[in-house]
Amino acid sequence: MIHTSPSRPPDADAVAGGPGPSVTQLQATVAEAFSKRFGQPARWFVAAPGRVNLIGEHTDYNDGFVLPMAIERYVVMAAALRAEVPPAPPTARFYSAEFDEMTEFGLEQGSRPSASTSWSNYVQGVVAGFAAEAIVPPSFDAAVLSTVPVGGGLSSSAALEVATATLLEAVTGHQLPANRKALLCQKAEHEYAGVPCGIMDQFSSVFGRENALMLLDCRSQEMEYVPLASEEVTVLITNSNVSHQLDDGAYAQRRAQCHTAAAALRVGSLREATLQQLNAQRSQLEEHCYRRARHVIAEIARTTQAAAAIAAQDWKTTGQLMYESHASLRDDFEVSCPELDILVELAQEIGVEGGVYGSRMTGGGFGGCTVSLTRTADVEDIRQALLARYEARTGIRPHGFASRPARGAFVMQP
Ligand code: ADP
Ligand code: MG
Repeated sequence: MIHTSPSRPPDADAVAGGPGPSVTQLQATVAEAFSKRFGQPARWFVAAPGRVNLIGEHTDYNDGFVLPMAIERYVVMAAALRAEVPPAPPTARFYSAEFDEMTEFGLEQGSRPSASTSWSNYVQGVVAGFAAEAIVPPSFDAAVLSTVPVGGGLSSSAALEVATATLLEAVTGHQLPANRKALLCQKAEHEYAGVPCGIMDQFSSVFGRENALMLLDCRSQEMEYVPLASEEVTVLITNSNVSHQLDDGAYAQRRAQCHTAAAALRVGSLREATLQQLNAQRSQLEEHCYRRARHVIAEIARTTQAAAAIAAQDWKTTGQLMYESHASLRDDFEVSCPELDILVELAQEIGVEGGVYGSRMTGGGFGGCTVSLTRTADVEDIRQALLARYEARTGIRPHGFASRPARGAFVMQP
């Protein structure tokens, strides 16, 4: 890893609070970062969005449903073939403006991840996936810029992987079927970053569509678009800016408890269980396992109900389901934290009259973001009220931005 002098784009910090710059603006910024770094103009430009999950939390590894959308925050990349005599065997150099770091690695099969989980691993994992498909580009250079907050649960990692895959497609002229591309990126995250993630993040970044959410069945890996064309509502994301490392094993423990509950109910996964079945077995189950399972079974049902409510433009019902999801994650699954609870309470205080239909924590928990469904006309007022009141109560400065459902990864015209 080579450290270079700071050259983070000037607007990289500014975007954290307000609406992000347009993709066209980002393209101009990354083009400049590229030519400054590599001394020639870029030839290819790609973008891949982050995502937010509207409802369906901790359901993915229980074969359930999730309901994410891609957000108007992107990882963008600019690239060109190596200007000077290319090295043999071929290598790629990636410069991340976010980390102000350059990494270089081989493009042929066999390039192994570095021991530390550096950002370079995500990129290398995708390159290795392409190499395994016998798709190897010639030596090239790339610059990476992002408006997806890093580590905030909005999947900057999947956006980075999917942007890399989209770039490799552009450079080599080989397009992968979209499904394979998403799975290849997921595999990169498993094997090169050591994160055993589900399919939601990479699928969202690949398949995102304007004016639509994605109802993703994690059992069949099938996906259905749920239209959210009405301009009446906007999704507001607020980042609590806390990340509690209370217990590293919390995630593994929740998975194990879900597994234990499913085994006790004699089903392959909690997707196949009903609340009636669960309640009938209550005396057989340890209390924690019972409550974890109650969350998962109810949350899977809420997710399909929310998809139907959104399709019917029934914002109140959708919002109610979001509040129920939060309460269940807080009380039964126990993955919330005081800061997330405060953000949801503050949203609830603003209420439907003030333009908030519903709000909940989103992502794995113990910090990160909340997602709220808001009336578009009020969203900026709501954003400012939430941020100011949260800071007054916690002393922590949060971030927030509004987003409509965005388009999945794409190649931009130079
Ligand atoms: P999340 O996906 O929720 O943002 P993760 O911990 O899964 O959080 O992924 C964050 C990691 O992804 C970072 O630590 C870094 O390794 C990588 N990453 C994200 N954005 C960038 C970027 N712009 N440049 C380089 N690496 C990035
Ligand atoms: Mg991630």
